[in-house]
Amino acid sequence: MNLKTFTTSVLSAAAFALAAAPALAQQAAKANVAILATGGTIASRGADTLALTDYGPGAGMKQVGIQSLVSAVPEIEKFANVSGEQIFNVGSSKISMANWLTLAKRTHELLASDGVDGVVITHGTDTLEETAYFLNLVLKTNKPVVLVGSMRPSTGISADGPLNLVNAVALAASPAAQSKGVLVSMNDRISSAFGVMKTNTTNTGTFKSPDGGELGYMQNSQPFFISSPAKRHTSNSEFDIRQIDSLPRVDINYTTLGSDGVLVDAAVAAGARGIVNAGTGHANMPVAIMESLVAAQKKGVAVVVGSRVPTGIVTPTGEFSKAGFVSSMMHSPQKARILLMLALTKTQDPKELQRIFDAY
Ligand code: ASP
Repeated sequence: MNLKTFTTSVLSAAAFALAAAPALAQQAAKANVAILATGGTIASRGADTLALTDYGPGAGMKQVGIQSLVSAVPEIEKFANVSGEQIFNVGSSKISMANWLTLAKRTHELLASDGVDGVVITHGTDTLEETAYFLNLVLKTNKPVVLVGSMRPSTGISADGPLNLVNAVALAASPAAQSKGVLVSMNDRISSAFGVMKTNTTNTGTFKSPDGGELGYMQNSQPFFISSPAKRHTSNSEFDIRQIDSLPRVDINYTTLGSDGVLVDAAVAAGARGIVNAGTGHANMPVAIMESLVAAQKKGVAVVVGSRVPTGIVTPTGEFSKAGFVSSMMHSPQKARILLMLALTKTQDPKELQRIFDAY
């Protein structure tokens, strides 16, 4: 790895074709992987090698561009011919819904091309699981799509970005990764978009799939799969990014002991078409929140009842079904929000919504 190049030489090109290519015969044998860069810690610099939490634009440091990211890891040429595009360059908590649609549509376009065998998306880790799950639902493809980030900035001592990126490209180039839905490759693990979640604020082993969704390992940059996703995704999904130009507003209400329905009412007033309630335990909530959700539902707002507990299933119960609420099943509140936004582009019928929450 050439850390110097990775961290210091920001080139202005927003897109490049890496025909930085070896011999033609060798090229033909390798997969063509498109890398789409969106920012995040993997593209961040800090003031020095020990600046591991204070880096990037917030610390007054410029982001690293796609070309520098790639040229820092010439090892990727062993696995694929790569092309790169800078889609945007922000921390993932700053990604807008418009950014999201742009990314998804461009990813779809590339996947539809015969010249692309797989796509890697570099992304901040904060919302990586959200983008992965969104793409898992809307991309019509069987080709590998791999999201990757890093927990340490490119300038950090023991930066994890370079190996994560090499592994992501190797995975996207591998026929073994086809038809597995959108994947996350971090810290030598391969995870499904459905199951994966960020579980630690700073640790390099942050991405875990506590309820299943761990699909395998990357070892010596080779994928070893141990399972496949059981839920509907990508080419088997009823959602299609080509038909989506906007998404309805869906808000999440976080329930605590003693909380009331003020935030639910505010969401309705702000025009939410759906609300996900992150309840306690098996979706339980204070009476005041229940009253606000019932009132919202009567106004035509779809209500999904989920849990703030990170693992387990929320199955339908008599009380919630009678109120016309949908149960989140195994979706975290943030993933339930994404599925509800997409589901609301098709239906508002609670039974249909529940079918969708059961299937994805
Ligand atoms: N702040 C970062 C982000 O863009 C965190 C990361 O990428 O690890 O999400």
